[in-house]
Amino acid sequence: VELPIHDAVLGRAAEFGGTPALIDGTDGTTLTYEQVDRFHRRVAAGLAEAGVRKGDVLALHSPNTIAFPTAFYAATRAGASVTTVHPLATAEEFAKQLKDCAARWIVTVSPLLDTARRAAGLAGGVREILVCDSAPGHRSLIDMLASTAPEPAVGIDPVEDVAVLPYSSGTTGTPKGVMLTHRQIATNLAQLQPLITTGPGDRILAVLPFFHIYGLTALMNAPLRQGATVVVLPRFDLETFLAAVQNHRITGLYVAPPIVLALAKHPLVAQYDLSSLKHVVSAAAPLDAALAAACSRRLGLPPVGQAYGMTELSPGTHVVPLDAMREAPPGTVGKLIAGTEMRIVSLDDPGRDLGPGESGEILIRGPQVMKGYLGRPDATTAMIDPDGWLHTGDVGHVDEHGWLFVVDRVKELIKYKGFQVAPAELEALLLTHPGIADAAVVGVYDEDGNEVPHAHVVRQPSAPQPTEGEVMMYVAERVAPYKRVRRVTFVDAVPRAASGKILRRELRAAHKEPS
Ligand code: ATP
Ligand code: MG
Repeated sequence: VELPIHDAVLGRAAEFGGTPALIDGTDGTTLTYEQVDRFHRRVAAGLAEAGVRKGDVLALHSPNTIAFPTAFYAATRAGASVTTVHPLATAEEFAKQLKDCAARWIVTVSPLLDTARRAAGLAGGVREILVCDSAPGHRSLIDMLASTAPEPAVGIDPVEDVAVLPYSSGTTGTPKGVMLTHRQIATNLAQLQPLITTGPGDRILAVLPFFHIYGLTALMNAPLRQGATVVVLPRFDLETFLAAVQNHRITGLYVAPPIVLALAKHPLVAQYDLSSLKHVVSAAAPLDAALAAACSRRLGLPPVGQAYGMTELSPGTHVVPLDAMREAPPGTVGKLIAGTEMRIVSLDDPGRDLGPGESGEILIRGPQVMKGYLGRPDATTAMIDPDGWLHTGDVGHVDEHGWLFVVDRVKELIKYKGFQVAPAELEALLLTHPGIADAAVVGVYDEDGNEVPHAHVVRQPSAPQPTEGEVMMYVAERVAPYKRVRRVTFVDAVPRAASGKILRRELRAAHKEPS
């Protein structure tokens, strides 16, 4: 696929014309395909007039809004590489990112302007801060809609030029800038589209953030490429989310496990009419089969399908095709997409390939493997070997039909006296307890220097409250002795990243505090 991503995504916008492309889920404001197409071209002209040049890094700092895609595709059309920024980042965090990628431009929204100004001040090198809405003293993208300048004629090389520079979630360490070219993103869209086809008439709820690669591709690029309507919510709040599904007659949900958990367990869900839903897809973190089944049973839907990927893979390599959701085995993250290779290699003997049923590290090779980490050649070489295989750091196995099952991250496995315990498995088990609303497990060291599973448990307010001993017993009765939870702490909430991942390092750090 040799198209820049704005053309790959909006190439059929004229054909979809008056179809709503984006609807603001809070106030109903609508942008049609014709408008998004015209607007992003005008804003691209405005950005070029403002001085944006090919290769400039532009930081897009915004929660999900209906203007986000216009700003994004305008920037790439003007030749910029877009680095997406967490809207809740502190000025210091934002400054780090700006500095790391030498960003020259910021596009923000007025409520975040203060943070953006402080970040620009700390980082240096930012030429101008523009706003999507309006703010005195700042150029606005809205004003650019009136631009009469010609569309910028930048020659984009889809193979070499970086379209997006997202930062990885930072779940396992410091976030790294991931260089994804136009071709990598466009190829992955084309690989996934036949498997999760949506189109005119489908309404997708964009509740996961556009700034993260999953939201950017599954909730922005893919549905807009196919003529679906995207209903946009700025953040996750269960009531607003359920009301939006009901009132906008949402047909497809692309979510992360915490939302599946809420759909399966939360009492509020019963008060809404969610009958418009046709499918639910979960990705970004391990989802237990029993929980997925509880969710689909409660909603009267085909089984929740999963997808698997990572920022470095543009992002998807596995998905349960929408038409195979009923036959896919419970718990699978899907089958390998076309044009991509996978190996599963032994954790103890990394050169050895494993067969069906054997768990090892997942390696991927294909056209969607990132160009590299920005400014970190060592980290890039550590991740992608000389033969082009990307080492995902995830543990999994396939069954004899090629369905992939992800066990957990290599780094998160708890090594108890030579045995390996996957936190995700214990978390899934804990969630089957009626008195447990949420759970996270990390490895901690006990007095004897053994790494042991330590459960952090959020109790279900509406159910009888289990004690520590009861929680440990519940697990002990259901797993092999080496997998037993040896410590329990009750917490108010499990810390999670915006993409739904458990921030286990935060839980671990909490125990390292001097007591
Ligand atoms: P960092 O690399 O900065 O530590 P991160 O790995 O969390 O952060 P992402 O690229 O957002 O950043 O996440 C990719 C990871 O998410 C995968 O490596 C995998 O561990 C996890 N993941 C994605 N999809 C699934 C899934 N369906 N099941 C289990 N885990 C998943
Ligand atoms: Mg990662």
